[in-house]
Amino acid sequence: MKCRHCATELTYTFLDLGFAPPSNAYLSEEDLLKPEKYYPLKIKVCDKCWLVQTEDYAQADELFSPEYAYFSSTSSSWLAHAKRYAEKMTKELRLDAQSLVIEVASNDGYLLKNFVATGIPCLGIEPTHSTAGAAEQLGIPVMREFFGETLSQQLAAKGLQADLIAGNNVYAHVPDINDFTRGLKVALKPGGTITIEFPHLMRLIEQAQFDTVYHEHFSYLSLQTVSRIFAAAGLRVWNVEELLTHGGSLRVYGCHQDDPRSTQAAVTNVLQAEIQHGLQDLDTYLKFQPRADKIKDDLLNFLIIQKRLRKKVVAYGAAAKGNTLLNYAGVKPDLVEFVCDLAEAKQNKFMPGSHIPIYDPKQINWSELDFVIILPWNIASEVKAQLSAQLKPDALFVTAVPELKVTS
Ligand SMILES: [Zn+2]
Repeated sequence: MKCRHCATELTYTFLDLGFAPPSNAYLSEEDLLKPEKYYPLKIKVCDKCWLVQTEDYAQADELFSPEYAYFSSTSSSWLAHAKRYAEKMTKELRLDAQSLVIEVASNDGYLLKNFVATGIPCLGIEPTHSTAGAAEQLGIPVMREFFGETLSQQLAAKGLQADLIAGNNVYAHVPDINDFTRGLKVALKPGGTITIEFPHLMRLIEQAQFDTVYHEHFSYLSLQTVSRIFAAAGLRVWNVEELLTHGGSLRVYGCHQDDPRSTQAAVTNVLQAEIQHGLQDLDTYLKFQPRADKIKDDLLNFLIIQKRLRKKVVAYGAAAKGNTLLNYAGVKPDLVEFVCDLAEAKQNKFMPGSHIPIYDPKQINWSELDFVIILPWNIASEVKAQLSAQLKPDALFVTAVPELKVTS
C-alpha cells in the first residue's frame, strides 16, 4: 500500500487492533441472529510525510451504512463550541450579507444556523440525507453531495466561492485527502479563509488515545503533515489554535498560497512542539502498540477481578471509541452488563462486536451498581456530574485511557 498523500510505499505499522466490525454498526435484536462482518483495523505511518493512515482493505465501501447517522446537535457542549466559532469568525472576517460561508459535512445545521440567524448566506455540503434534511428545516441550503475537487469546480462555475470554508471533524474522515484539499482550494475566494478542525495526532500519541482509531477515521493528523498537504494543493496554513475538543484538537487556518496574511507564531510553536513530542522520529510511532496493549490488559484484568468479586459493572456512552476499546479487549456482556446512552437511535440496540445491550439511562436503577466505566473519557466530568447523585455512595467511576483510573 502507498501513502494516501505522497505515494511512498508504507512499510511501518503504527497500531494493529486485529479485526473489528464498523464502530457505528449498532445491531438490532434480529441482527444478532445473523453473521457479523469484521474488517482489519491496522494503522500505518508514512516515514516520508508522517501521515498516519488506515491500511486499505477490501470492501471498504460496505462500511458506510446510511442507517445510522450522528446528529451533531445532540451534544450541548458542541453546540456552544459552534456558536462561539460563528461569532468569532463573523467578527474577525467581517462577514456580512455579501459573504458566503460553506461548511463541508454540515451535518444537521448545528453550525450554519448561527450564520443564518445573522443574515450571512451559507451553503452546507452533506451527503447524509437524514442530517441534511434536518439542516434544511432550519432554512440552510444543503447540497447532498460528497465534497472534492469536482464538486468545487461545479460550484465555482456557478460563481459560488466562499469567504469562509469550515470543516469540523471531517478532514480525518475523508479517504482521498489530496482531492478534498484541492476542493478547498477551488472553493475558496481570493482572500478567503479555511478553518478545519481535527483531533491532534500529538495528543493521541501523548495520551495513548488508541481507542480513537476506527475504520471510518482514515487519517491521524499533525500540523506538519497538514501543512504539507495544504502546500501541495496551493494553500498555506497561516494560523492554528489548540482546542480541548475530542481529547485535544487543532483548528487550522488556511488561505491561498499568495495571500498577504503572514504566518503566525502559533504555527511555528505547534510545529516545534510536534518535533519535541517525537513526531518526526519513527521510533515514536513504533513504540505506540505496547502502550495500547497495556491499557487493554489493565482494563481486562480489572473487569475479571470485579466479576470474581460479583460486582456489578456497567458502562456509560455507546460511542465509537468505546467499541474500539471493548472489541480490542474482547469484552462481552459477562464483564460489562450493559451500556447506556442518551441517543435514542442507539437505545435497545447492541454494541457491534461485543453485543453488549444499550439502554436508556432513565430506565436504569443506578443505586444497584458498583462501577460505571465512562467510555467517552473526553466527557468524563460531564457524565460524573450527571450520575453522581443517583449512584450509591461507594459506587466508583472508571476510565481506561490514558491509563486505568478508578475514582469516586
Ligand atoms: Zn506520505
